[in-house]
Amino acid sequence: YLLNQEQRESNARSYPRRIPIAIKEASGIIVTDMEGKTYFDCLSGAGTLALGHNHPVIIEAIQHVLAQNLPLHTLDLTTPIKDEFVEELFASLPPAFSSRAKIQFCGPAGADAVEAAMKIVKTATGNRTVLSFHGGYHGMTHGALSLTGNRSPKEPITGLMPDVHFLPYPYRYRCPFGLGGELGEQISYQYIQRVLDDPESGITSPAGMIMEIVQGEGGAIPAPDEWVRNIRSITRKHGIPLIIDEVQTGLGRTGKLYAFEHAGISPDVVILSKAIGGSLPLAVVVYDKDLDQWSPGAHAGTFRGNQMAMATGIATIRFIRENRLESMATKMGEQLQNHLKTIQKLNSSIGEVRGRGLMIGVEIINPKQQPDNLGSYPAYPELARLIQQECFHRGLILELGGRHGSVVRFLPPLIITQEQVNQISHIFAEAVQ
Ligand code: PMP
Repeated sequence: YLLNQEQRESNARSYPRRIPIAIKEASGIIVTDMEGKTYFDCLSGAGTLALGHNHPVIIEAIQHVLAQNLPLHTLDLTTPIKDEFVEELFASLPPAFSSRAKIQFCGPAGADAVEAAMKIVKTATGNRTVLSFHGGYHGMTHGALSLTGNRSPKEPITGLMPDVHFLPYPYRYRCPFGLGGELGEQISYQYIQRVLDDPESGITSPAGMIMEIVQGEGGAIPAPDEWVRNIRSITRKHGIPLIIDEVQTGLGRTGKLYAFEHAGISPDVVILSKAIGGSLPLAVVVYDKDLDQWSPGAHAGTFRGNQMAMATGIATIRFIRENRLESMATKMGEQLQNHLKTIQKLNSSIGEVRGRGLMIGVEIINPKQQPDNLGSYPAYPELARLIQQECFHRGLILELGGRHGSVVRFLPPLIITQEQVNQISHIFAEAVQ
């Protein structure tokens, strides 16, 4: 299997380079390879599988669609399933936002919804510049890549969207202002306030600001609630549409159904994908009706009518809400972080354990090099890769992230049990050792 893949698949594939298995079956948090070896899947389809692999409610939803001879694909024609999906999704969003909201189906990836969100705010405001954040990740299509904060994925591609202005994200371990803690966050906010107030900065009238409440690919970095509230007030003051990218954080992963709820803010635009499709590809933009200024046909896309994905999406949203899985994410996330912090105490190569809910990152550092003035040590991506490999050999699939590829990321399904948290922590401790 792997040999065929080597020969035929594109060089650009990334996961199989570090996870060189062919997967035969999967259930819950476990995947089984062709030799029958099992692994804990803490990658979860890059955070997609909120209910794990093949949850009974997902299988039931798929079987229902097939048994009733329902259409599988309808472009954007209305169907009862679509209607039910929209009802269910809107009921999961805070009423302050959903009562004013409209939805655009995009398809089928997170990046597609990011592209649509850019068009929505640009059409509504008539402005060009988009504000984004260092370390942010919004996808790999041309427009979405332009918004991505890191240099390396953009470097080989010429002619990306030029009108993107990057702002500092409140990354405590590597504070962009060399200050750390609350002071760093205050300065970050003041900086943003000043550039928006300064007519000479050239960005006083942007089309919108896009951000993650917890940077995912950027290394599981949560933005403090107070900082998020400040950003909301300054974007309101300047009339800048605030676009929250909940592609990875959405539907309970961070301990609230939507990560923006932690700060109690109401955004103008919310981008959703991954978990909302319940394992199948689905992406939407939900946005304030005042921004709905594009005309019929202004946005199209063939695969925005996947009925099966809407059916599995309904099942997922319902199951998460009925079982309060967001609270479980908080509980299990705290337990996992506690274990990881214990491991950190015994290993000087772990600089920080952080995250929110079940979106957790472990910053791998080189303690033999000089720390900066905050006491933060240089990133150590080679060691992070080694730890990832050691975990893999012991039956634990993890992904790396962070600006320097030095953050080991845990994104388990929200149905993870306490016992599984213990087992995973045990494997990780051994691997680090
Ligand atoms: N936004 C965020 C926050 C993401 O984490 C991702 C994917 N990791 C995307 C957008 C892009 O989604 P997709 O890979 O489905 O295009």
